[in-house]
Amino acid sequence: MSELRELYQQLILDHNKSPRNFGDLPDANRSSEGHNPLCGDHIKVAVKLSEDLIEEIAFLGSGCAISKASASMMTAEVKGKTIEEVETIFRDFQSMVTSDITTQPETDHMGKLAVFSGVREFPARIKCATLSWHTLHAALGGDDQSVTTE
Ligand code: ZN
Repeated sequence: MSELRELYQQLILDHNKSPRNFGDLPDANRSSEGHNPLCGDHIKVAVKLSEDLIEEIAFLGSGCAISKASASMMTAEVKGKTIEEVETIFRDFQSMVTSDITTQPETDHMGKLAVFSGVREFPARIKCATLSWHTLHAALGGDDQSVTTE
């Protein structure tokens, strides 16, 4: 577990310092905003969908290191995938970060996202890690309304 924790810290620091796909996406056709009032995280996710494929994705916002790193890694992960594939990752991600701390998390198929299983140790941070996914989910659902973790 300590190895995973180290990896977790490194990846989060790295993505927080130089977030991937951070910025505007002028030709986006879907977008949504998300807030996590508990921590003060705010994020906007913009997607360029072509049929059901995520061709481009970008995010803007401010928040804690975990919310930013999670958004950064999410955008890297979902680019080039279909809505259906992304919804499956979203469900798996959510069950991973909310699974019981005494059990081994299901991370085999999660790739780099597995580092977020570490937030299980910090329950207040789970919403930071899932905010970007909820926001993307809302954007893909075509509802332009903002989401909140509350
Ligand atoms: Zn946060």
